[in-house]
Amino acid sequence: MNAYMKRVLEQVKARNAGEDLFIQTVEEVFKSLEVVVKQHPEYEKMGLLERITEPERQISFRVTWTDDAGKVHVNRGYRVQFNGAIGPYKGGLRFAPNVTLDTMKFLSFEQTFKNSLTSLPMGGGKGGSDFDPNGKSDAEVMRFCQAFMSELYRHIGPDVDVPAGDIGVGAREIGYLFGQYRRITGTYENGVLTGKGIAYGGSLIRPEATGYGAVYYLLEVLKHFGEDIKGKKIAISGFGNVSWGVAKKAAELGAKVVTLAGPDGYIYDPDGIVTDEKIEYMLEMRASGRNKVKDYADKFGVKFFAGEKPWGVEGVDIYMPCAFQNEINMDEAKKIARNKNAYYIEVANMPTTNDALEYLQKHVKIVAPSKAVNAGGVATSGLEMSQNSERLAWTAEEVDAKLKGIMKNIHDASAAAAEECGLGYDLVAGANIAGFKKVAEAMIAQGLI
Ligand code: GLU
Repeated sequence: MNAYMKRVLEQVKARNAGEDLFIQTVEEVFKSLEVVVKQHPEYEKMGLLERITEPERQISFRVTWTDDAGKVHVNRGYRVQFNGAIGPYKGGLRFAPNVTLDTMKFLSFEQTFKNSLTSLPMGGGKGGSDFDPNGKSDAEVMRFCQAFMSELYRHIGPDVDVPAGDIGVGAREIGYLFGQYRRITGTYENGVLTGKGIAYGGSLIRPEATGYGAVYYLLEVLKHFGEDIKGKKIAISGFGNVSWGVAKKAAELGAKVVTLAGPDGYIYDPDGIVTDEKIEYMLEMRASGRNKVKDYADKFGVKFFAGEKPWGVEGVDIYMPCAFQNEINMDEAKKIARNKNAYYIEVANMPTTNDALEYLQKHVKIVAPSKAVNAGGVATSGLEMSQNSERLAWTAEEVDAKLKGIMKNIHDASAAAAEECGLGYDLVAGANIAGFKKVAEAMIAQGLI
């Protein structure tokens, strides 16, 4: 890193002291940008790196709701509007007990580059709350969503900021949030949220899009190495919507997902999660609100490993962490790297600590970064926005074909960006460079704001 980058990084660390996730992602992105920053001395003159690491706006608000027994609860709500240079802020809402402002900042910073990579006009944002939907009744979730939207509505709009789902926010929550937005504003602006139900402007394939997109990206990586997905074994973590999409598409293409993981441990299914019954059951498990992957082992009679992670399982070709940030640390990375031919395909947002990421880049066949691999979700949200603004609906085949094209383009653009900088087939650096360049160009063009 040159002196300018080092100076900005120090400033970011001082200004965001204690916000370790945010600092981690800034460091990770900066590592890739050295060559580009050297090529563009105007970045320093325009304070580009100082500006790109400071959110345009961050909102924090009180959310008051009552549970079914009438008890009052207070949670904290957030929306971080990180960068709007290339389009309205766009990014999900996360409801999970460990959500802090730091979580929101790291996610919206990542989102800025991810959205840029999709080649669709979307800026970066993220929001959410430390509310835990697990174990809550439908009515409680509805009251929480209504209270949350009672503040959020004044900060969003189809041309301003377009939230969607993330961990803990699915079609049910988006429905309640949209209902409240419509009621408060008295408008039918369904382009204000994505991930909606089909009955009120949702896009076909949106629920599948993140998982499908990840597998489409994987296909491009395999193609680069002249390999076929058929017969490959995949270890994944998580058992939510994203994992479901990965399992479904992998099965369709003749590969098999053999592990799932939750907060309670992991399951190993040697036959693979390949039948309709097993794939459907994943949705049931998630919808139950129990948050226990052991339910799968009980139902299908496979092994459950309490309190363990799936990364040491033998005979796996591809590793796809689909759960939380930083679930792969150095210990886990070393387990994966026992397989020198491993494809390490990040899916969850920032699932790898920076030291583990560097280690894996040196010791496995290839590492692909989540901001490229999981971009199919937000890309399909972008397609949902287009359909809403044109007041039409595309068929599942149309959306799927566009998603496939976008994922191929993300892979190819990342590979080309790294190649141009003399870095070879480095998908991590390539994604950062390609995502960054477009945002930087738009910021320079728009002057000092
Ligand atoms: N939460 C998803 C992500 O991390 C999707 C965001 C969206 O669709 O706006 O990209």
